Amino acid sequence: MELVKCLILGGGPAGFTAAIYAARANLSPVVYEGVQPGGQLTTTTIVENFPGFPDGVDANTLMENMRTQARHFGADVRMGTATQVTLDKSPFKVVIDGSTELEAETLIIATGATARYLGLPSEEKFKGAGVSACATCDGFFYRKKTVAVVGGGDTACEEAIYLASLAKKVYMIVRRDVFRASKIMQEKVFKTENIEVLWNCNTQEVLGDALGVTGARLLRKDGTVFDIAIDGFFLAIGHTPQSALFAPWLELDENGYILTRGKSSCTSVPGVFAAGDVQDPRYRQAVTAAASGCMAARDAEKFILEK
Ligand code: NDP
Repeated sequence: MELVKCLILGGGPAGFTAAIYAARANLSPVVYEGVQPGGQLTTTTIVENFPGFPDGVDANTLMENMRTQARHFGADVRMGTATQVTLDKSPFKVVIDGSTELEAETLIIATGATARYLGLPSEEKFKGAGVSACATCDGFFYRKKTVAVVGGGDTACEEAIYLASLAKKVYMIVRRDVFRASKIMQEKVFKTENIEVLWNCNTQEVLGDALGVTGARLLRKDGTVFDIAIDGFFLAIGHTPQSALFAPWLELDENGYILTRGKSSCTSVPGVFAAGDVQDPRYRQAVTAAASGCMAARDAEKFILEK
């Protein structure tokens, strides 16, 4: 059976940054990219907030560059997804795609999270053409336009407030008659003049044409169906961390995010580290994921040195 010093699961900014640091520390990392090579970032187009790119950078190019940089230092980047793990002690046992078995002295989990969508066919049709699950990534494209944010949690409020600073008008589409968000975030929303909350509303359909989103058809709880004219439709109904595989072995929070110790990437099992969105319900940015990938590689290096 192949024994790997440092096995990294996930090919997003966290996984590749971990790979760059681990390779430079002679840990000969093996990276399995998982179901979405390049990670969540590849679902967007231009990344304008990753430092070092004053004119923005194409998301796929950025991820390709990270992959190339990791390989340049000797990381072994492979296609494949972990389907089974046994994490009671190092070396950890990992099965890839149901058949390839590996042992790993250290494991870095950087499997990310996926934004939840409503599941409407029209929403799928306009993904990347007006439908987005990341206001920080795509909000800038809606300067002086009208957008809608679906959701009533802290993320939805935060995204609506952010978008309101750019857009002419922001609708919040909330399915109940109350927010789930904290009081302080609610107050901020209520104080923002260009946010209009549409209570008790569910989206029936995202409307659009060849150029992208033009509106949304909403159903209010009282049975009224009405359309709003919008240029962008933002989902903020939560994220699902890709942690199910690890749940029997690691401590997770109530939403399934892997818990890390203090200011480190250490999980509840020594030798297993977590980086990026799978352990971060709060910041969820490419640059914070990359930073935590660096931490995980440094923590893995220390674990091996001290063993
Ligand atoms: P939450 O799970 O807290 O909220 C999700 C929101 O989306 C709820 O209002 C929910 O409605 C709504 N929703 C879910 N599914 C649907 C659907 N199918 N159709 C319409 N609406 C739907 O997720 P968040 O991402 O907002 O927050 C995650 C965690 O991160 C929370 O603990 C939050 O406090 C934290 N956070 C904190 C921030 C801060 O402190 N500033 C900023 C961002 C996040 P309903 O209420 O009816 O279930």
